[in-house]
Amino acid sequence: MPNIHKPFHQKYRPNNLDELVGQKFISITLKQALLTKKIAPAYLFNGPRGTGKTSSARIFAKSLNCQAFDQPTITPCCKCDLCRQITDGSALDIIEIDAASNTGVENIREIIERAQELYLSLRRQILREY
Ligand SMILES: [Zn+2]
Repeated sequence: MPNIHKPFHQKYRPNNLDELVGQKFISITLKQALLTKKIAPAYLFNGPRGTGKTSSARIFAKSLNCQAFDQPTITPCCKCDLCRQITDGSALDIIEIDAASNTGVENIREIIERAQELYLSLRRQILREY
């Protein structure tokens, strides 16, 4: 999709950890995890609206799963199929949930079931909560 038809928040969303503005410590922490290959089993992106949770989660998902590299990288290509799908929110293996309205045990069971059914093309899965 050409950039002129994209909403402002999609058009200017950062594509890598260096472009992530205002979240220096998150950027450093995620880069360190990628460089040392010490990836935690789960990451929770939490905070007020507009603080970069979606951007951070999508960048991290691209860094972990970029098809241009055989292993996690701090510089995802942003051109491969997975990077583009993650950027535009259409990746089938990415589950984005609204944790504010999915608070029940049944909601969590449903998310766990959905996560087990996926894992089609990604090396790792990212759950973003907002
Ligand atoms: Zn890529």
